[in-house]
Amino acid sequence: MEQHGTQSLKMVGVRDLRDINQTVFLHLIRERQPISRADIVKATGLSPGTVSAIVNRLIKEKLVYEGIEGPSSGGRPPKYLYVNAESAYVLAVDIGVKETVYAASDFNGRILTQKSVITEGEPTKFLQNLADDINVLVRGQFPRAKIEAVGVSVPGLINRSDGSLIVSPNLKWQSVPVQAVLEDKLSLPVYVENDANAAAFAELWYGPLDEVSTRTLLCVLVVEGLGTGLIINGELHVGTRIGLGGFGHMTINPAGSVCSCGRRGCWETFASNNATIERYRSMTRTRSRGKTVTEIVALAIEGEPAALETIQTTARFLGEGIANLAHGLSPEVVVIGGEIASAWQIISPIIKEQVKSNYIVPPISFIIRPSSVQRPSLFGAIPIALQHCFRTDTEARPNEGKRSRVSANSGQRALARLA
Ligand SMILES: [Zn+2]
Repeated sequence: MEQHGTQSLKMVGVRDLRDINQTVFLHLIRERQPISRADIVKATGLSPGTVSAIVNRLIKEKLVYEGIEGPSSGGRPPKYLYVNAESAYVLAVDIGVKETVYAASDFNGRILTQKSVITEGEPTKFLQNLADDINVLVRGQFPRAKIEAVGVSVPGLINRSDGSLIVSPNLKWQSVPVQAVLEDKLSLPVYVENDANAAAFAELWYGPLDEVSTRTLLCVLVVEGLGTGLIINGELHVGTRIGLGGFGHMTINPAGSVCSCGRRGCWETFASNNATIERYRSMTRTRSRGKTVTEIVALAIEGEPAALETIQTTARFLGEGIANLAHGLSPEVVVIGGEIASAWQIISPIIKEQVKSNYIVPPISFIIRPSSVQRPSLFGAIPIALQHCFRTDTEARPNEGKRSRVSANSGQRALARLA
């Protein structure tokens, strides 16, 4: 039975179970093409009927096409599936606290071009300038009509009904109409998502193929703050209409230091990049600006004692938080993204030990691994933009009325192009 609010969430949610399945299928077909429907059944563990329904939808949307390959063994030759890779492009924007990166990608998941700017100034003005930069990039390198949609990842709480940012403590932005500002300047459909959710999505689009049947995945994104994205039973967990900020603000120690959210002792205050940088700075008693986590990781790998201890301590806190969450969520896969993941050789045994020692029923029954991509919040914005391609005209979002012309035109352009 649908709980109160669930039905409306299905309508306003940018992604639902079907979208996730389509993302996973495109990923699988892209990597293994030519691939038969029977191979997809084998890889995903889904029923032949479900696989056929999703494949037929992808074919109808012209994202995938069917061809015949190889000699037949006598009977009817099997049909194989291929991705319509360069039929359209999407743009990905990763708004970070210090740096914002934007990129264009094709359906093969390749980043074709990438640029970055410093994140600074008044938010709306910054977004308008960013859109101007993106327009210059598109004009110079891509046929305008081939750009399908824009996925945006932001480090904060988002309102799913209008794609605005409610608050980002680390970015220090509040009530910023991200979607509206960018759509106005870019004249393209824009989809906004929390950065940790985007990072979880990156795993659906770039993760290991032997995990395509994974239904429950926890992504811990460690940046200036710390966020989590959760795919549960094959669906991105968004809670209420207002996207949740994840578990970064669960209390680890009520007597701990003050967090960016104003409370004390959140997980973020122990394991985020800011926490790691501050830990190293206090250990080395330096008054100057702290080193970046990448720099501290490099020193730790070289064996510098303070850097090594700093990273090991962060790993212990990461492990402690993951152990807490794993008890309740029982994920199949836990992914850690961000600069700290480049210290995997140091942090992996500590995190695993923490999880094991805190777990009631050993041994650990889930995979713990680093993110499949280096900047998961950017790479995750690509499949978020791709969701637009999964939409038919009857599935427009409730706030699409004001820009229905853009979306409808875009949809028709896509169909005309792909036909
Ligand atoms: Zn907090």
